[in-house]
Order: sequence, then C-alpha cells, then structure tokens
Amino acid sequence: MSPSQAGLLGWSASTRAGAALGALAAREVRVAISSPAWWTAPLEPLRWFDDIVGTAPHIFYTVGLFAAVGGLTGLWWGRRSRSRLGGVTLAVIVMMLLVGQIFALRALDTVLPGGLRWVVPRGAPYVLADLHSHSQASGGALMPAQLVQWHYDHGYRVVALSDSNGLRGVPLAVRYVQHHRLPMLVVPAEEYRGTTHLLMFNLRRAVTPARYNVRAAIAEARRQGAFVVVAHPWTSRLAPTRLYAWGAEGFEVVDGNVLASRGTRALCTREALPETADLDFRTGNFPVAATVLPTWADTPQLVQRALAQGCCAALFVTDEIDRGDFHLVPELRHTLHNLRRRTLPLFLAGLAFWGLLGAIMWPLLPALRIFLRSVRLPHGESAAALALGLAAMVAGTAVECMWWQFRQGWYPRSEWALYLWAVCSPLCLVLVTRVSPPE
Ligand SMILES: [Zn+2]
Repeated sequence: MSPSQAGLLGWSASTRAGAALGALAAREVRVAISSPAWWTAPLEPLRWFDDIVGTAPHIFYTVGLFAAVGGLTGLWWGRRSRSRLGGVTLAVIVMMLLVGQIFALRALDTVLPGGLRWVVPRGAPYVLADLHSHSQASGGALMPAQLVQWHYDHGYRVVALSDSNGLRGVPLAVRYVQHHRLPMLVVPAEEYRGTTHLLMFNLRRAVTPARYNVRAAIAEARRQGAFVVVAHPWTSRLAPTRLYAWGAEGFEVVDGNVLASRGTRALCTREALPETADLDFRTGNFPVAATVLPTWADTPQLVQRALAQGCCAALFVTDEIDRGDFHLVPELRHTLHNLRRRTLPLFLAGLAFWGLLGAIMWPLLPALRIFLRSVRLPHGESAAALALGLAAMVAGTAVECMWWQFRQGWYPRSEWALYLWAVCSPLCLVLVTRVSPPE
C-alpha cells in the first residue's frame, strides 16, 4: 500500500491488518510541537545554522563544507603569519569547533525541553514504537535508562534498544522500567553493523560482523529465535530481494527522516512483510517516525508475533520525510520556512543576546589583546596556572560524571570525547597563538 499523501501524517503497511492500524493512527494521532525554552535563545542561531547546513541529504556534504571553511581559514592564517604549521593547526581547530558545536548542540537538545511529541488518544487500540535506537554504547547521547525515559516523554510506549553489535545496555534499560514502574516495553535488540545493517529483535547472544557475514548473521539470529529486519535498506549494497531470500523477515521503510525506495516497499507489499518506521535514535528531540503496533503486543515475544503477522504500520510526519529526490534550492527554502514559522522570535532574541555581548566585549578587546601579548609561556606562570585550573575544573566534572556512570556498570564514551574536545579547543587556540604570532 502506498503512503497516504493527504494530511499531516503518512503511513505505509503491507497487510490488511497493518493498513487498518496505519490509517487509524494517521487519523487520530496528534503531533504536539513546542518551541525550545526561552532561556535557550542564545542557542537558537546555532540551531538555525545546524538546520541550514544539515539540509543536504548526507552528513558528508556538511563535513565537506566544514572542511572547506576550515581549510580557507587555515590558508588565510598561514599566509598572514607566514607559518604553515600555524595555518594547518588553525584549520584543524576550526573544523573541530564546527563539528563539535553541532554534536554538543544536538546532545543538549536531546535533554532540553521542547521539540515534537506524539499524542495518542486514550484507549486507542494501538501504541507507538521506536524499534531502532542507540545509547551511549554506540554513538547516542543518552544512557539506556535516559533513552527509555526520553521515548516515554515523546509519546512512545515500546522501544527497542538496538546498540551496534552488542546487547550490553538492555539489562540497564529493563531494570529502569521495572524500578520506576514505567508503562514502557523494552525490546532487547541489536543492530548488526556489517556491510548491511540488520535489526535483530529478541536476540539472546550478540551476533557480530567479526564472526558472521551478513548471510550467516541472519541465519544465526533466526537460530536464536530472533526476528530480523533490514535497517535503512538503501545503505546496503545487497538487493532487498537477496536479503529476503537469505531470511530477512521485514524492512525498515522509514529510518530517521528517509523513506525507502518504491522497490523495497513493493517487495514488502508483494510478500506481506512488516514495514517499520524508526528513529535510529541517537540525539535530538524531533521524532518524525514511529511504528504502529497493536496494544496486545505488550511483551517482546508478542511484538515479534505482531511483526511476523505484518500487524504493524510505518507512521511518519509527511512534511519532514525525504523521499530520495533531493533538490537543494526547494529544500533550503522549506528548511527556512519551517525555521521562520517555528522559532523566529527566539532566533532574533538569540541574535540580540550575542550582539549585546559583542557590544560589551568590543571596548574590552584592546585590553584583551594587550593581556594576551603580555602572556609569555613558559614564563607566564599565571596564564599557565589559569589554563590548568580551567582544565582541572572541566576534568573534575568529567570524572564525577564518569564515576556516576561507572557505578551503573558503564564506561562512558561520548561525554569523555565531549570534555576532551572542550578542554582541547581553547588550549589549542592558546598554542596556535604561540606557534605563529601575527606579523
Ligand atoms: Zn545502521
């Protein structure tokens, strides 16, 4: 069945039961969009920047743009200071700052109020699920417990924690739900990330690409009694028909904000295979996809049964979904239109904040310049002590945070990287002024 074009919500399903669920949910479910809190106004210009440079369909375009900006800045500094090393260092720092601010902003927005929330009417015969999510174990911003709470707060009642090539976070997520008696169902899962990515629900032992190729992985997961769905099939080099022949039992037709090709959806319809719509959640607060499941699917095994029967539908916010026909100018116009409509006052307030800060700082700049020139490393002990003190403060917070997570049986990665970035960037800036003083 083709996704419905009319209305705010679209859906797609391959069986009669799935279509009934999808059509009902698309009619009844409401999306509540709230603006970010007013006190996050200084972040809003960065959010606009992030949205605008992120309009391109692939992260590589954004990274390419940043590399170009970093390269040009480095070239300019290198010429000016007649130091090639200085130029290269500055190029790297600019790249780090641009990429780092986007990651930091997305991590922040994951926990700040605002964004999109699904509202399912009371007594509905269906629930919304996200069957593809990553915790800090595989590049997400949240710990398993926080990830479950995030999904609950955004209107989901089922979440599959599907960290890459492992099942380590599942017990933490389950324990959180039990401890807080949260009406949430956690489905144990793994995203097998070999040359093709596969979601394996109700897996008992990890299936890794180091031990299994794609075909063997599907066989091993099914031998364990797991259910195998192909994640974002458009990134696989293998044709959907071949993956189906090898034993894959369903397809993710929406991942994040991308819709699968007509061919993949036609295969699902022809063979009555379950279609899912998942977030591939890592960061953010704007979920635009959900899998609709019947309310009777209230255990991991029953979710598997619902999927096996095709009793599910892919639900998505039509306006936000990329159908694979990317045209830069209309997309940019669409992005700008959405930004203007949602957060223009906040954006202006943010600009005013930075403008005001700039106006206050401007008269102080000569004094700052004189201060920076007076700093003589290694003789400028006071400056060195200041830098060390700052670094120790940030590192102390990092250690506190790591200790908290370590007690939950977890060694954090993303925080560690973030703190390292926060410490390194300013230190590098100080270093680069040492390497190549201007004129
Ligand atoms: Zn993936």
